[in-house]
Amino acid sequence: MTGASHLRPEFVEFIPDRLEPGVLYISRRYATASHLCCCGCEREVVTPLNPAKWRITERAAKVSLTPSIGNWSFPCRSHYWISANRVQWAPVMALEIIQAVQARDRRDAELYVPKPPSWIRRVFDELAGASSLLLSKLKSWWSQS
Ligand SMILES: [Zn+2]
Repeated sequence: MTGASHLRPEFVEFIPDRLEPGVLYISRRYATASHLCCCGCEREVVTPLNPAKWRITERAAKVSLTPSIGNWSFPCRSHYWISANRVQWAPVMALEIIQAVQARDRRDAELYVPKPPSWIRRVFDELAGASSLLLSKLKSWWSQS
């Protein structure tokens, strides 16, 4: 199971039933795009193309998709941008900041009563879980190249 660092855009009328990894299928007719999750988990990511969802921009045969793709509903919880055919993972720095905030949040929780609402702690826990997964993925990614 290896992740993709690039996606090749392929303009199609219909999104095929079986997607190839590393290909971003774009159907202008049906205003949708699909690809297999770039972490390598091979789950299908569907990105409807409309002002409320995603937007495709094309420049010199390279495709960018905005906003970022956050696969929070997948076990991998991967989060990345597709920019000029490249897969750019959510910055590690930002994730480290989240972890630092979480650590501070824990300390604060010990110091002060009342504790922060449980939903805030749950959100931070989720973010930290996603970031450590991503870090391990980035590490294995770098060691491959
Ligand atoms: Zn994935």
